[in-house]
Amino acid sequence: MNVLKNKIKAEGVVLSETVLKVDSFLNHQVDPELMMEIGKEFAHRFKEEGITKILTIESSGIAPGVMAALYLNVPLVFARKKKSLTLTEGVLTSKVYSFTKQEENTISISREYIQKNDRVLLIDDFLANGQAALGLIDLVKQAEAVVAGIGIVIEKSFQNGGKIVRDTGYRVESLAEIESLENGEVQFKEEEAT
Ligand code: 5GP
Repeated sequence: MNVLKNKIKAEGVVLSETVLKVDSFLNHQVDPELMMEIGKEFAHRFKEEGITKILTIESSGIAPGVMAALYLNVPLVFARKKKSLTLTEGVLTSKVYSFTKQEENTISISREYIQKNDRVLLIDDFLANGQAALGLIDLVKQAEAVVAGIGIVIEKSFQNGGKIVRDTGYRVESLAEIESLENGEVQFKEEEAT
């Protein structure tokens, strides 16, 4: 998705060989027009999948997720990372280890919002080691719903999450695939092939 790649090139900050900072449009400040284009693109790619719900994780998955939900005309559910005072009964939980933050989070959703047989599109901002996506898959399975696909805004292809998640057999669509962050530069996958 060129508009996204151009934004990453212009505003992305390479923090290390493994971490990209995109606080100016996705992880802190949010660019609503770009989120709209991202939502439209996810909706286009998954329009034949009979999606009935979108599931993401707070907080950075919410902006792209809600736009995809708007264009697919379905609700968005976001898994919570912190214990909620109001989320007390019928809660499904899964543990997610973040290599980036080196911490484990328990993510949770209410059973009420993902029903048996829902066809769920999972959305997240980054795919790195795949643990967040696996946690979301686990929640959908516990709800006896169906994972209909996984939409990722930025995939870091040099980390192993893409393989781990694709090996589960689910369709993964990434809007920007980063092959390398070496030498302080963002190298996209397609650029290498040309
Ligand atoms: P995974 O579970 O695939 O290892 O990591 C996914 C989560 O870690 C994403 O939801 C994102 O919040 C965070 N993350 C992983 N790598 C990066 C990165 O390079 N930049 C930013 N901003 N977040 C990342």
